[in-house]
Amino acid sequence: MDNYEPHLYELSSPGKYGANLPRLDVPATDLPENLLRQDDLNGFPELTEPEVIRHYTRISRNNASIDTGMIALGSCTMKYNGKLHEEAARYAGFAAAHPLQGDEVSQGALQLMYELQQYLGEISGFDAVSLQPAAGAQGEFTGILAFRAYHLDRGDTERSEVLVPDAAHGTNPATASMAGLKVVEVKSDARGNVDMADLRARLSPRTAGMMLTNPNTLGLFEEQIVEICRLVHEAGGLMYGDGANFNAILGIARPGELGFDFMHYNLHKTFTTPHGGGGPGSGAVGCTAALAPFLPGPRVRQRATGGYELFTPEKSIGRMKVFHGNFGMLVRAWTYIRTLGAAGLRAVSEHAVLNANYVRVKLNDLYPQAVDRICMHETVLKGQIAGAQGIRTLDIAKRLIDYGFHPPTVYFPLIVPEALMIEPTETEGKRTLDAFIAAMRAIAREAVETPELLHEAPTKAPTRRLDEVRAARQPILRYDVDAFAKLRAEGGG
Ligand SMILES: *Cc1c(COP(=O)(O)O)cnc(C)c1O
Repeated sequence: MDNYEPHLYELSSPGKYGANLPRLDVPATDLPENLLRQDDLNGFPELTEPEVIRHYTRISRNNASIDTGMIALGSCTMKYNGKLHEEAARYAGFAAAHPLQGDEVSQGALQLMYELQQYLGEISGFDAVSLQPAAGAQGEFTGILAFRAYHLDRGDTERSEVLVPDAAHGTNPATASMAGLKVVEVKSDARGNVDMADLRARLSPRTAGMMLTNPNTLGLFEEQIVEICRLVHEAGGLMYGDGANFNAILGIARPGELGFDFMHYNLHKTFTTPHGGGGPGSGAVGCTAALAPFLPGPRVRQRATGGYELFTPEKSIGRMKVFHGNFGMLVRAWTYIRTLGAAGLRAVSEHAVLNANYVRVKLNDLYPQAVDRICMHETVLKGQIAGAQGIRTLDIAKRLIDYGFHPPTVYFPLIVPEALMIEPTETEGKRTLDAFIAAMRAIAREAVETPELLHEAPTKAPTRRLDEVRAARQPILRYDVDAFAKLRAEGGG
C-alpha cells in the first residue's frame, strides 16, 4: 500500500538506545545462574525514544475510538466515558493504594466499594451486591455457580439444565456449559419475545434456572417478563438476568422487582467505565437475600463500631478475582452514579431509548426492522435493501467506515438474517445521529446504483477489507518482513 510506514524492526539499527535507567538505589546482588538470560534477545529492535513514541502514536491514530466518534455497536453500549471519572480514578489515594495494605488504612476505598454495592442494589432492586467479577461473562459464571450451590445446599441435586433463549448473547450458553450444566434452548416468537408455549415445554424438575436478557438482544422489552419469572420459579428454577442491557431501564424498572434472582451489571457498558480492546472491565453482580450467602467474597460491610471491613459470605462459592475486582473501574462507576444522581440515571435511559427509536424510524423504510415494534435502547434492522443485488450487511458495514463511522454490530442476534444492531446510546446528540442516518441512507442508494463501492469498501481506512477467514486460519503472529511484503503486494493489510 502507498501509505506504508516502516515497522519498528525495519527502523532498528545496532547500538541505538532509548532508555535512561535510574541509578541503582538498592544493594547490588548476583542473580542465580538459572535466572540469567542465556541467549541474546533474538533480533529485538534497537531504537531511540522518538522513534518508539512516533511509531506508537502513529499507529494509535489508526484506531477508531469513542473519543473520536460514535460507535453504535449494539449490545456493547459504547457510550462516551466522562473525563471526570478518569480524574477520580487517578487520585493517588485510589490509584496508589495497595490491596494488601490493610483495612485500617483503606477506609476511603472500602467506603467507596460499600457505597457502590448499595447504589447498584438500589438501582436494580437487589438485596446484596458483589463487586468481584471482572466482566459480564464472569458475572454470569458467578451467577450460575451460585444457582448450583443454592440448589445443592437445599439437597436439590437433580437440577442440571439452564434455559437460554435463542436470541441470547453467546456468553450465556457458554457460561451454563462451563458451569457443568446442560443448555436448553428456548425459541423466540414472532413479536421477538420468549415463546411462552416453548418455555412451558422446556421447564422440568431438572431446570436449575433460566438466563434472560431484558430488554433482550433484539432491543425489545420482554412483554411477559413477570409471567416468565413466575413459571420458572414455579418449576423450582431461578432467574438469571443478563444486565448488559440495563442502559435501557435505569430508574424506570428494577430487575429484582420484575422477578429476577441474580443479575450482572456491565459497569463498562451501563456505568460508563471504558471498554473495548480487552481492557479491564467490571461485571459486578446483585442478587436476592436467598442467594446472598453464596456470593463471591470479599464483599464490604459496615462495622458495628463504625467504618468498613471486608468479609466473605458464609457459603461463598469462593473468589472470582484476585483482591477486590478491578478497583479503578469501581471508582469510575461510583463517580458516574454520584455525578448523575437518581434523576440523571433515569434521563440516561430515556435518552438512550429516544435516540435508538429516532434512528429506527429514520431508517426502517430502507432497512427493514427485524420485528416491527418500538424498541428500547437499541434497534435491530436488516441489511436487506430493496432493489440491491448481491449486497450483504458486511458490505454496508464496511462502507460506513468510508463515511467515517464505526460500523454497528452485525450478524447478531443470530436469529435475524443480515442483522444490523444499532445502539446509538444517550451520549450522542441529534447532529451526530443525523449524520449517521444520512450516511446509512446514502449507502442504501449506492447499494442499488453503484454496488461496487460497497464491495470495495473500505477504501479510506488504513487497511482495505481484511480476509477474516485467512486471518483466523493462517495468522501471522510474529513480525516477518517477507510475509508482510507479500501480503502488501496482494493488497492485504
Ligand atoms: C457484553 C455482553 C455480555 C458479556 O459481557 P462482557 O463484559 O463482554 O463479558 C453478555 N451479554 C450481553 C447481552 C452483552 O451485551
